[in-house]
Amino acid sequence: MIAEQVGVCRIRLVAPAAHVDHCHETGKVRGVLCFNCNSALGKLNDDPGACAGPSLTWKETCGSQPS
Ligand SMILES: [Zn+2]
Repeated sequence: MIAEQVGVCRIRLVAPAAHVDHCHETGKVRGVLCFNCNSALGKLNDDPGACAGPSLTWKETCGSQPS
């Protein structure tokens, strides 16, 4: 899987990505992430709504998407 993604994080498209992200309910593997993205998903309780929040807040306050 890491080779499929060329070692790049599925979310931020940065390397190195070495953390296999999976759904804690189903066990389904979602992809390989960098340390920061994998940690962020965990801290946001794997909640898709909570994960979208930081991007929306950033866009509302800064007027553009974070890079
Ligand atoms: Zn990442």
